Amino acid sequence: MVSITIRSLSKRFGDTVALDSVSLTIEPGEMFFLLGPSGCGKTTLLRHIAGFYTPDAGKVLFDARDVTFVPAHKRNTAMMFQSYALWPHMSVAQNVAFGLEQRKADPENIERRVGEALDMVRLRKQANRKINQLSGGQQQRVALARALVVRPDCLLLDEPLSNLDARLRLDMRTEIRRICKEFGLTTVYVTHDQKEALAIADRLAILDEGKVVQGGTPRQIYRFPFSTRVASFLGETNMIRGVIESEVGTDKLWAVKTDFGQFWGRLTEKNWEPTKGDRVTVCVRPEAMRLADYAGARNTISGKLNHYMYLGDTAQTVLSGAEGQEIRVTELHPTGRAPDSDTELFASSAPEDTLILRR
Ligand code: ATP
Repeated sequence: MVSITIRSLSKRFGDTVALDSVSLTIEPGEMFFLLGPSGCGKTTLLRHIAGFYTPDAGKVLFDARDVTFVPAHKRNTAMMFQSYALWPHMSVAQNVAFGLEQRKADPENIERRVGEALDMVRLRKQANRKINQLSGGQQQRVALARALVVRPDCLLLDEPLSNLDARLRLDMRTEIRRICKEFGLTTVYVTHDQKEALAIADRLAILDEGKVVQGGTPRQIYRFPFSTRVASFLGETNMIRGVIESEVGTDKLWAVKTDFGQFWGRLTEKNWEPTKGDRVTVCVRPEAMRLADYAGARNTISGKLNHYMYLGDTAQTVLSGAEGQEIRVTELHPTGRAPDSDTELFASSAPEDTLILRR
């Protein structure tokens, strides 16, 4: 198992700054996700780890070894692409064997290792089928077997599940995690699918405009985003503008004045000492809001029903509050009965589920 250290890595393409002094450490055997809006630099970073790009500045280390200028084929990484890049005219086994043949492994060894890799992805029975006789999910597993068969120190995955339907994605993401953990692979995984990242990542980094804006476990980042950008990028969130009033209670809570009244909430940004009048955004996840028939003393939004959507396991109620601002409330295990559209509705949040972020 290998650790990956990225030190102040920067890369420009013409005028575009794709990576801006990125630093990260990925632990041995860790499943690490890169997330962020389109164009934020995820693939560029992955390609630097693979060895397809050399940086303008900074370093890539595998354990203590500086691999910044080591070519891709000498790094012992395996990259799996969105398109799988399989050979359609070859069989499953031939596709998987390809990388070993290129490395001039002896034939007996190749056969054994291909068999093992196919067992790993549960495709031994389909070994002689042609690629075009396989389902999308099976093709994805061939691509995974082909990456694993060379016994890489680290596996680099770029949107590996994006060609699959929703059901298969769910099955495959668990499968990928199982395989990576069984092999003890250090895995770096790029995706647009936040649920995929939340479900299987050990840790993740959010990139924005070539910079790491926050890193941590899925729980840390979802529950304690440092900025409104991270909060709105990972999951949905209600945002209410306000200004700091004062610290309240003994639990590091702060009071914020908003158009909806006062909110108590907590700070997520480290080393920030707010002062009265600081402009902030109060963030509350829809699932942290509760509907009520009456207003609480604070942390309450009032409004009229704008929209109600029953989704089976959850229901989403959208209220139109002060100045038409929409507030979303997610209800778990809903009855499916929409609230009355003529009456005033209230939605409130507990102070510990209410975040105060700097504007
Ligand atoms: P997406 O989620 O859309 O795949 P990404 O986060 O993977 O995006 P990158 O592909 O890393 O983003 O691109 C980062 C920036 O660098 C983008 O502005 C992109 O247009 C630019 N870029 C990437 N590769 C090249 C290249 N070979 N030549 C010129 N510009 C590039």
